[in-house]
Amino acid sequence: MRLYDTLTRSERTLAPIDGSTFRFYCCGPTVYGPAHIGNFRTFVLQDVFRRTLETGGTRTFHVRNITDVDDKTIRDSQKAGQSLADFTRGWTEKFHADCEALGCQPPHVEPGAIEHIPQQIAMITELVEKGHAYASDDGSVYFKIASFPGYGKLSRLDERELELGKTQNARANSDEYEKDSISDFVLWKSRRPEDGENFWESPWGQGRPGWHLECSAMIKEYLGDTFDLHSGGVDLVFPHHENEIAQSTCACGGHFAAHWFHITHLLVDGGKMSKSLGNLYTLEDLAAKGFTAMEVRYVLIGAHYRKPLNFTLDSLSAAREALAKLAKGARSLAKRAPTEARFDSVDFGPFQAAWDTLNDDLNTPGALGGLFTGLKESASLTGDDAAKALAAFNRVLRALGLILPEEQEAIEAPGHILAVAEERWQARLDRNWSKSDLLRDQLLEDGWVVKDGRDGYELMPRND
Ligand code: AMP
Ligand code: ZN
Repeated sequence: MRLYDTLTRSERTLAPIDGSTFRFYCCGPTVYGPAHIGNFRTFVLQDVFRRTLETGGTRTFHVRNITDVDDKTIRDSQKAGQSLADFTRGWTEKFHADCEALGCQPPHVEPGAIEHIPQQIAMITELVEKGHAYASDDGSVYFKIASFPGYGKLSRLDERELELGKTQNARANSDEYEKDSISDFVLWKSRRPEDGENFWESPWGQGRPGWHLECSAMIKEYLGDTFDLHSGGVDLVFPHHENEIAQSTCACGGHFAAHWFHITHLLVDGGKMSKSLGNLYTLEDLAAKGFTAMEVRYVLIGAHYRKPLNFTLDSLSAAREALAKLAKGARSLAKRAPTEARFDSVDFGPFQAAWDTLNDDLNTPGALGGLFTGLKESASLTGDDAAKALAAFNRVLRALGLILPEEQEAIEAPGHILAVAEERWQARLDRNWSKSDLLRDQLLEDGWVVKDGRDGYELMPRND
């Protein structure tokens, strides 16, 4: 498989350093609320990445952390009147349920930051001893950027005309500091009154670790000093990943990550998602509008990971139609394939193009297109040829992590429900969105989910 590498800005062929298992790390969620579909663009693409490697016969070892202590988790647990542990456990469970619905495989190891405070303290100690970190008067410990000449290579700070020298004495204590400033960043934050009960003992007094440190400490624990690949959304390139590189190479030696895989942000209605604009969607929000997690997954993989993806509700309707079409094609192929063929791992037959393009910088839209073309090309296949084609189709589908909808028997809705649905469809045609949303909610309360297509709607009994 070939994949673009953020550090060298080039496409490179991936191969496990140890010759057997591809070992990689993904920065995980901060568990202070439900993850939104932007977060899931990143997690779903990482899942397709892993599935593609595995489908191609490479064993993987996937580590993804849970950020269960930072400024935001502490602030919101207090607002909710819960202990940090109870609060973050609830949101971690929600995250797991969402991942499962989206068909994302759980990582092999999923460490939490709080469980790894001793490892983080050990790393800070190492950095202080080696002269890369210093304690300030207030008991916080900072990483000294001037002590690491390699700082800024990943995000190419030199090209962004940010000079280290100008800000050498600046310090940032917040977990998320200004994206365009370079400052010594905090490794250990001394205890503050607003932290409440959330503090730990350390050689520098009571406090808690800074956010950037946890990934470095957990990587050292589970992947060692050098490993195959590191990944996250593009917003993590600077400062988070830049800081991880600094901490890890200074504390451990080694080369840290051999490859960097960053996923471009999801946009909604052409812009950034935000609560105030009302366009920050969670899976639950979309389920209330009648869309399934698999339809969301289809949309998320519908664009190349290095290009921005603009999410719209219409794209979910299109995804529904596309999934139904794939399912129909697969059923037709299955009918013509009476025997089950053993999959020939070299020959993907009519789905070779789909497989190849997926392995060429994880071109997911290309692979989806290849599935449709492959089905068209298989239209006249029968017997063993059809069986082989079906096995190849299922392989690509599995790499993409898609589960196709079963053929559904139509269940006729009662007359009064149909009347509301008709009224709603008319409201949509009149572009009266508030009325149509209101009627959708009414149908949902009565136990019916309405799914919109381009030319009409479907009514299905709610199954929760
Ligand atoms: P967080 O929970 O904020 O730490 O984010 C979890 C992951 O989602 C990180 O890899 C982020 O880079 C990624 N992410 C955040 N917002 C978006 C977005 N709009 N599109 C794609 N990925 C995102
Ligand atoms: Zn991280």
